Amino acid sequence: MYSFEDEQNRVATTPWAAIPQEKWNDWHWQIANRITSVDELSQVIHLTEGEKEIISKSLNKLRMAITPYYASLMDPDDPRCPIRLRAVPSLPETVISEEDLFDPLHEDVDSPVPGITHRYPDRLLFLVTDQCSMYCRHCTRRRYAGELDQPRKQEEIDAAIDYIHRTPSVRDVLLSGGDAFTLSTDRLEAIIARIHEIPHVEIVRYGTATPIVLPQRIDDELIQMLKKYQPVWINLHYNHPKELTERSRQSLAKLADAGFVLGNQTVLMRGLNDCAYIIKELCQRLIENRVRPYRLYQCDLSQGIAHFRTSISKGIEIIEHLSGHTTGFAVPEFMVDLPGGGGKTPVHPRYMIGQSDRQVIFRNYEGVIAKYIEPEDTSSLGCPDNCTICDDRQERGLDQPKVGLEKLYAGEAISLEPRDLPRRKRKQ
Ligand SMILES: *Cc1c(COP(=O)(O)O)cnc(C)c1O
Repeated sequence: MYSFEDEQNRVATTPWAAIPQEKWNDWHWQIANRITSVDELSQVIHLTEGEKEIISKSLNKLRMAITPYYASLMDPDDPRCPIRLRAVPSLPETVISEEDLFDPLHEDVDSPVPGITHRYPDRLLFLVTDQCSMYCRHCTRRRYAGELDQPRKQEEIDAAIDYIHRTPSVRDVLLSGGDAFTLSTDRLEAIIARIHEIPHVEIVRYGTATPIVLPQRIDDELIQMLKKYQPVWINLHYNHPKELTERSRQSLAKLADAGFVLGNQTVLMRGLNDCAYIIKELCQRLIENRVRPYRLYQCDLSQGIAHFRTSISKGIEIIEHLSGHTTGFAVPEFMVDLPGGGGKTPVHPRYMIGQSDRQVIFRNYEGVIAKYIEPEDTSSLGCPDNCTICDDRQERGLDQPKVGLEKLYAGEAISLEPRDLPRRKRKQ
């Protein structure tokens, strides 16, 4: 593990050698001193003239901004260093491949007001800023991230909060961006306090990569503020075990000690982490640091990131290597976020390999094949008389309008049809 001492030794070889510790440890200093030009970058890692030219060319796609802390983790001599791959622009980013889409997840299409994507029935995504402390080269939201490198305008924040107010089906609000934690603590609190007051909002969760790229952000001021608004769920974005430095782990300990629930979302990336052992190491180190691996994402179809994409089978293979082989809660769920706003869809290795009347055949992680025998009578007994959850489902917010298969199960339909089914049009 990369210790504080390693960090100090490395920083001594960079232009920040003479920066006093108070500054290095101050997240405002880190943001103000991000690397944004090729010249600055070449003082921290070795770049050939050719590489410098390539990086300059790629800069007009998605802004480069690398915190001195994260830059100090880079291997100066190895262009395939995972830290460098995440932070340093490369030529393939300028290539738009045939399958690339500007807004693959339809975040702008499924947006009732600027800054909000309301896709799922009971929860929504609220982009409070386009600023990140560092811009990841694999960013799915690169059409938006870093465009202004600023918090969202106050009128838009107001309109978004107003939308949440008048939409009682929303019980879960996900604050992201950009990076929600790049907002000043006061500005963030001004948003959270207002959301917290909305009676139908049960949880607020945060998407942030600051513990990875700017662990200094996890300061006492932030912790004390967030503690007022429990429950706090935070999803982090570690992609590689190298990112779990001593400083980064210390920020995780602060968050976990404050009682916040920590999860992690990893993006599967070719040449960076597309190996079962890298992901296994990452996930095992995460649970050691009280972070639950939540998801492993297939790389989206955003423009300019085709070089990072793996096959979907790679993700399945990785899960195959984890499930059963390591702690259950060290295994993330592998997800594909479907183009066109189809949403996050889980993909699993196939464990059920046969089925007859009452017999279901499985294979397990070791390759053992076994059968499970179902009871003779599996018909539902209906709800027990002493249970009122169904009766109260309206008040409890459990009864959303039925969609998809639910409609079939509920007897509201016997089939689901595409809107433009040609044989229906023939009838008229
Ligand atoms: C990912 C996402 C969410 C949260 O999804 P979960 O599966 O509940 O984690 C909510 N809204 C949007 C638009 C998202 O992309």
